[in-house]
Formats: sequence, structure tokens, C-alpha cells
Amino acid sequence: MTEYDAIIVGTGQAGPSLARRLAAKGNRVAIIERALFGGTCINTGCTPTKALVASAYAAHIVRRASEYGVTVDGTVTIDMKQVKARKDAIVAASRNGVEASLRRTTNVTTIQAHASFVSPHQVTIGNEILHAPRIFINVGARPAIPPIPGLDTVPFLTSSTILDLDHIPEHLIVIGGSYVGLEFAQIYRRFGSAVTVIEASPRLVGREDPEISDNVRQILQAEGIQIRLNAKTTRVSPGINVSIDHPEEPGAIIGSHLLLAVGRRPNTDDLGLDKAGVAVDAKGYIKVDDTLRTSVDGIWAMGECNGRGAFTHTAYNDFEIVAANLLDGGSRGVHDRITAYSLFIDPPLGRVGMNEAEAVAAGHKVLVGSLPMASVSRAYEKGETLGLMKIMVDGETKQILGAAILGTGGDEVVHSILDLMYTKAPYTILQQVVHIHPTVAEFIPSLLLNMKSV
Ligand SMILES: Cc1cc2nc3c(=O)[nH]c(=O)nc-3n(C[C@H](O)[C@H](O)[C@H](O)COP(=O)(O)OP(=O)(O)OC[C@H]3O[C@@H](n4cnc5c(N)ncnc54)[C@H](O)[C@@H]3O)c2cc1C
Repeated sequence: MTEYDAIIVGTGQAGPSLARRLAAKGNRVAIIERALFGGTCINTGCTPTKALVASAYAAHIVRRASEYGVTVDGTVTIDMKQVKARKDAIVAASRNGVEASLRRTTNVTTIQAHASFVSPHQVTIGNEILHAPRIFINVGARPAIPPIPGLDTVPFLTSSTILDLDHIPEHLIVIGGSYVGLEFAQIYRRFGSAVTVIEASPRLVGREDPEISDNVRQILQAEGIQIRLNAKTTRVSPGINVSIDHPEEPGAIIGSHLLLAVGRRPNTDDLGLDKAGVAVDAKGYIKVDDTLRTSVDGIWAMGECNGRGAFTHTAYNDFEIVAANLLDGGSRGVHDRITAYSLFIDPPLGRVGMNEAEAVAAGHKVLVGSLPMASVSRAYEKGETLGLMKIMVDGETKQILGAAILGTGGDEVVHSILDLMYTKAPYTILQQVVHIHPTVAEFIPSLLLNMKSV
């Protein structure tokens, strides 16, 4: 048995940073990765998808070149092998960077193996057992495979395996009309595929307010993406033939490729958590308290596997919370975090805090300001006027409750609202801020000057 001061399982967005911090304080740390260093974000999540989004955007803008007075001779063709090579190079640089940085860190032993618990403070990596008083779990999640009849008869893709394509599907069928599915839908439509999105609920991105869902749908449909809402997939068969149960138009959709994008499940089923006594919820997420301690003393769970966030920035913030509390005498907790994320279609959706329905349900006296992006001069000048911006405040406490900016630059602009939310300052401060013209952000003060009660 090998002794360490700390064992970290998984090299996602929290583990490597924590390994470096612990090691710098003189702790002997073992960090164990069973697959690709850097985890989901770098290898099969944010990094590769945003590289593909960039290629798709380039194709889109070249096709629209004449609208800007730019002449491009010849047809627009996508060299998917080149697109993939660019994406792979970006991914490899990040992955190699994570591994190299761990391997050169003094006091860190980097191990490539599958790890699982054999007792609360012992982890096995095959033939060897490691022991440490502190163990940090950062094992992430993987695509969920829904129990659709016939799925075993077709070669389906997941958000991970679709990244290996070096050709353009003739007709991509996407089951799941939420964040991951919609990014791929638009990417491949812009690469030239026919694309159909099948969504069981009445709206795309169902956790957003209805007008946001509706605008997202319009943006995607305007590019020729077929969207079937209220459509439950009942069977798939070779072809690829996807049968749907739809109130008005039941039947089958025939495509060349099938992407399953119906959510994720935590990598906790083969971790021996029962041997350590670590409690999980009904979906397999590790139960943690506000400081990310599990049900067992000396074991923490960080990142997607604890069910407290499904993003890179939330996983990284988990590292910050654990490090602050353990190493810096801090008292940080997950409760300090404000919800923030983006849907990286083009134009993107930047979201912070509550949506309108949540704000009303929470009993706030909600005031809402909203504005179509077509009224934003910078959007007009850029020829990118789709979408809208929306902000919710509490009329009594003057606190900003949430915002959605669906439009050009929405993923960046929304941070000016998020930053103020962290200060807990009243929204009236933002009413008087003088923003740079011409920007999308300059309309945020105007939004706050023209609000209505819900
Ligand atoms: C297609 C897609 C696009 C996304 N885009 C974004 C985005 O734009 N922005 C954003 O914020 N988030 C995005 N996400 C989500 C984001 O990637 C994840 O939330 C984030 O990477 C989770 O990080 P993590 O630290 O929890 O775990 P992960 O990054 O998943 O890392 C876990 C690591 O643990 C390893 N591991 C698992 N079990 C074991 C074991 N038993 N032994 C040893 N090692 C093990 C795994 O191999 C993996 O490397 C996206 C996700 C997907 C799928």
C-alpha cells in the first residue's frame, strides 16, 4: 500500500488545480486519470465544440459575404478533415498542457489508471492500493443513453463520438433540443448537413422563459433546421429511421446519422462508492454539503459528479471553494455562486440568475425590461439582429434577479450584469453607468429604465 497525503480521482476542471495547490503546501498528492487528461471540457466538451462553432461561423459569414459588400468567388465548401484537424490541434494543446503541468509538479504523482474505492480511505488502481486521509473525487459525467427501442440496431453518435466525424452527415437527426443538441444542430447545418431536431417537450431549451425558447427556435429554423416539438421518439431502426409519436404528425424521420443529446449521467457507478460509504442520490450524483464534503469524513466531491453544477466554471469554482476552506482558512460555499451559463449557438444566449418564471415563483415583486436585438445599433451595424435581451429585478429590494441576452455578444455582455449581481448593489447603479457606444452592453442601462411589472 502506498501512502499519500491526498488522492485526487479524475483530472477534470477541479482536480489538477487542487493537486497543484495541495502540492505547493508540501502535501504528497496522487492524481489518477483513467482516460484523457483534462476531462470533458478539454476533450469532448467546451473546447472542441467551440472550435467547431468557430468553423461553422466562418462558413456562415462567408455565405453571407455579399450582404456586406464582399465578393467571394466560387462555392463555399467545408473541408471536414481540415475542420477536425484544427479542432484536434486545439484540444491536444490543452490536454497535453494539463498532463505536462501535473507531471512536472513537485510532490504530485500522476497515475494513468481507473480508480475505485476499497474502503473510505483506500483506492485501488489495479494491483496497487493507495491510502490517504483526504480523497477528492472529480470524476465528471458522460452522455446518457436513453432506453429507446431499437437503439442497439443503429450506429448512433453521442456528444463525444460525433467529434470524431471527419465527414459531413447528409442528414443529421438530433434527439434532444437542449444546449448540447442545439449547438451540434447549428454547427452541422452550417457545414451543409440537413438537420432535424426531435424534442419531446413543447419547447426547445425548456429551462428558459418561453420567449427565449421561441427566439432560439426561430434562429435555428431560419437556417433551415427542421424542428419537431412535442415529438417523443418511440423507436429507431436501421436506415436511420426514427419513429416519433407526435399529436399532429406521427411517423418516421429518415436520416443518415443519429445524435443522442438527452443529458448526462455521473461517472459514479464504477467508483466503489458503496465500499467507502459515500452517499449518492437517486441519479447517482454524490451528495455533498455546501462546502462539498460528502457523507464520509475526509472525502470531497467536486465538479459535475456532485450534481451542483454542470459547467466548467462551476467545477473550477468547486476547486476554489475546497482550496479556500482547506488551505487558506476561508469559509466559502456553493451558496455564494450565482447561476451563469451560455448556449453557444450563434447568436449566443448568455444567462445569469433566475428566469422570469423562477423569479415569480420565488415570490419576488418582479419588474422586467426587455428589448429586441433589432433595436440595438451595434447589432444592426453588424448585420446580426436576431434575438432579444431581458432583465429581471426585484422592485422592492432593487436587486437584479436574472438576465438573458440572446444576441450577438450575449455570452460576453451578460457578465456586466453578473458582476453587479455579485456586488449585491441595487440595479439603479447600472441605470446610470455610461457604457461605450456602439456596443450591445450600452443598452443594459436603457433596459433598466423601461421596466414593467409582471
Ligand atoms: C458537448 C459539450 C459541450 C460543453 N460545453 C460547455 C461550455 O461551453 N461551457 C461550460 O462551462 N461547460 C460545457 N460543458 C460541460 C463541461 O464540459 C463539464 O461540465 C465539465 O467539463 C465538468 O468537469 P468536471 O471537472 O466535473 O469533470 P470532467 O471534466 O468530466 O473530468 C472527469 C475526469 O475523471 C475521469 N474519471 C472518471 N472516473 C474515473 C475513475 N474511476 N478513475 C480515474 N479517472 C476517472 C474521467 O476520465 C475524466 O477525465 C459541455 C459539455 C459537453 C458534453
